[in-house]
Amino acid sequence: MLSSMTATLVDDRTRARLAAIGQRVLEEGRISREEAMFLFELESSADIFDLMAWANRVRERFKGRKVHLCSIINAKAGRCSEDCKFCAQSAFYQTGSPQYGFVDPEPVLQAAEEARANGVVGLGLVAAWKGLNEGPMLEEVCRRFEELRDSGRVRPDASLGILGSQTVADRLKAAGVECYNHNLETSRRFFPEQCTTHTYEDRLRTIGYLKQAGIKICSGGILGLGETREDRCDLAFSLREVGAHIVPINILNPIPGTPFEGREPLPPMEILKTIACFRMILPRQEIMVAGGRTVNLRDLQSMIFTAGASAMMVGNYLTTINQPVEKDLQMIRDLGLDPAWDRHGFSDQEHR
Ligand code: SF4
Repeated sequence: MLSSMTATLVDDRTRARLAAIGQRVLEEGRISREEAMFLFELESSADIFDLMAWANRVRERFKGRKVHLCSIINAKAGRCSEDCKFCAQSAFYQTGSPQYGFVDPEPVLQAAEEARANGVVGLGLVAAWKGLNEGPMLEEVCRRFEELRDSGRVRPDASLGILGSQTVADRLKAAGVECYNHNLETSRRFFPEQCTTHTYEDRLRTIGYLKQAGIKICSGGILGLGETREDRCDLAFSLREVGAHIVPINILNPIPGTPFEGREPLPPMEILKTIACFRMILPRQEIMVAGGRTVNLRDLQSMIFTAGASAMMVGNYLTTINQPVEKDLQMIRDLGLDPAWDRHGFSDQEHR
């Protein structure tokens, strides 16, 4: 009897603290790292659902009912010089993933046409290489972006790795790149355990060049690499610090042949809780669930929005298949949300 009364008291205290944090975020307040860790450490399903209810209110308050959709095209596949341990495209691992050089104009314009038809806001050209320096390749890449910009079909986005200088970022901006994906991937502490060929600092430097060039920042990470909850919390705070506009959350889909092929999948409720925690730390950002959604969340996919996500990657991923776009659009409409076309996909509020 006494122990059940104690449990009730603990539950009440947890709910009261959650409500105090949630109310503050709704009223445009910020949460501390210590409060965020309290959220990341919630264990019971009841508490996680309670957290998700708050994250849902915060999403509605700052993002409304619109769902921001992005797609990607693999603009240069395989044989990457980097050793990111989750990646099928690294030359360090035998994964059998496709390999080809930089994409011609036609597939990009075709992908833009399909994206537009599906109400997708941004189309990202993604290249599997370390990054870009000044030179003929930069000029070829810029031509693809100029063609995409001139087509007027989608927002031209890029994910081209580490930029060698401010000049490269400025050149991309001039070619029409509006938003650049450059994930921090994980915490500064855990980063060297998932990649040794470049550093967290390299990534931060590129983000600095992009911001200076006036390109919007899409930066997030990947869950399930073996990082701790503290690492996830640190990642979210680093993303707040760098001023990311879009925050993609990927979930590891262990690829045979990579060092992380045997990683245990995260439980779906842990993934949903993490999305909700990110929403509470980053109330105004587009929190986008990206790679690994279908395989890791299965029937719980639609709950990403209740957990606070406001954006989703649709269409196939770089080396794995997603569920059909029509199914994703139906899921969004069934929830009473709006996968609306919005040319720029950025509201003023996001940037504060
Ligand atoms: S994540 Fe990017 S940089 Fe790392 S190995 Fe894969 S393609 Fe290369």
